[in-house]
Amino acid sequence: MAESVAAFMEMIKAKNPAEPEFHQAVLEVTESLWPVLDKRPEYRPERVIMFRVPWVDDKGEIQVNRGFRIEMNSAIGPYKGGLRLHPSVNLGILKFLAFEQVFKNSLTTLPMGGGKGGSDFDPKGKSDNEVMSFCQSFMLELFRHIGPNTDVPAGDIGVGGREIGYLFGMYKKIRNEFTGILTGKGRNWGGSLIRPEATGYGAVYFAAEMLNTRGETLKGKICLVSGGGNVAQYTTEKILDLGGKVVTLSDSGGYIYDEQGIDREKLAFVMELKNVRRGRIKEYAEKYPKAVFTPIDRSLDHNPLWNHKADCAFPSATQNEINVIDAQNLINNGVYVVSEGANMPTVPEGVEIFIDKGILYGPGKAANAGGVSVSGLEMSQNSLRYSWSREEVDQKLQGIMKAIHKAAYETAEEFGTPGNYVNGANIAGFLKVADTMLDLGSVG
Ligand code: NDP
Repeated sequence: MAESVAAFMEMIKAKNPAEPEFHQAVLEVTESLWPVLDKRPEYRPERVIMFRVPWVDDKGEIQVNRGFRIEMNSAIGPYKGGLRLHPSVNLGILKFLAFEQVFKNSLTTLPMGGGKGGSDFDPKGKSDNEVMSFCQSFMLELFRHIGPNTDVPAGDIGVGGREIGYLFGMYKKIRNEFTGILTGKGRNWGGSLIRPEATGYGAVYFAAEMLNTRGETLKGKICLVSGGGNVAQYTTEKILDLGGKVVTLSDSGGYIYDEQGIDREKLAFVMELKNVRRGRIKEYAEKYPKAVFTPIDRSLDHNPLWNHKADCAFPSATQNEINVIDAQNLINNGVYVVSEGANMPTVPEGVEIFIDKGILYGPGKAANAGGVSVSGLEMSQNSLRYSWSREEVDQKLQGIMKAIHKAAYETAEEFGTPGNYVNGANIAGFLKVADTMLDLGSVG
């Protein structure tokens, strides 16, 4: 065992070169856990699967992408975690996501191990037929590695109901069985109510719990939301339900700022734009001219989305979307609640600023665990061959988010860092998995 965090990180970097996101995720957890980790077995993925995904485009030409599944840890349940389709996908990014997923799933109170997968395939600009061809080919390899008691993937960036449908259909065909091997399925074929909403709703419930520790609510709060996909949309919906006001949304082309607030009618427009027409967020400003669209400017050293007066921020696009200047801008603009819908959206120096300033900062592995929690509930319903009502699932989701908040809050206090949800979530998530690994013996 290494003698210091620095020595440990050197070892991790030497064994996993050129995977900066994975190093970042390990460092964050290691800093929280060092006193504990020193005495425990270290983490390694149990299995990494990499494969070729050939598919046929609309011109009849064969394209080839790379597919991955990282099965990180199955101590407390089947591997569980999303599939990401995005050109930025590589081994290091998926290992960071799988690593985070282990702790997140442990926090949910449900029996799920951690995994993650995906491909560098870019669904943007592809026809339905091309996406289907890709998904079917992807499943042609993945099917042999997953199963309802082995590994149960779900959606992530670029994987929504359409892709889960194509993947599920292919699995059913190959295996000749109808079984819960994916979550985020459609309502008619084993999906859970509230699964599409769960990550966004959960991130808002987590923010409400953090505010509650100060006797406050979301009512009247001005909120910055980034992203324009699944998490951003349902974060916006739940903020509206709880009386807050959302003034921004984005995609990889830029962001919109709507000072008047994104109301339910405007949100419906965004949902249709993004989920049906698969258009760009700049069209929002064409439809609602009082809103301002700002295109991405890569020469800037900060993201102007995070530079507006507000109370709360819900980063819901991607990793490292809040850099150190953005973090400082958020504080300068009055933001004192950050609830991360995305995975690891804040760089480590940004996290330090939030913690130093003592704001209510909910790290992704706690704040966005609502999605995988309802995935866990979908697995339970599939096993029961039964489905719960919307109210039942929503109530269970709220109960789980409260439990995650309580565990992170109380563990932070117990280990001498009150209010530090990063330490609380890392330590609480880790201990359950590590203790189980010891219980299961040297092969467990
Ligand atoms: P979607 O694909 O539905 O939406 C992602 C949004 O973020 C899109 O607006 C996309 O814009 C934008 N985006 C993605 N990558 C980049 C990038 N590199 N730069 C700028 N913008 C980007 O994904 P989700 O909403 O499902 O996921 C968003 C985040 O939430 C991810 O970090 C994911 O890991 C996390 N998460 C998701 C869960 C879920 O249940 N879906 C569960 C837990 C966490 P564009 O379309 O232009 O690329």
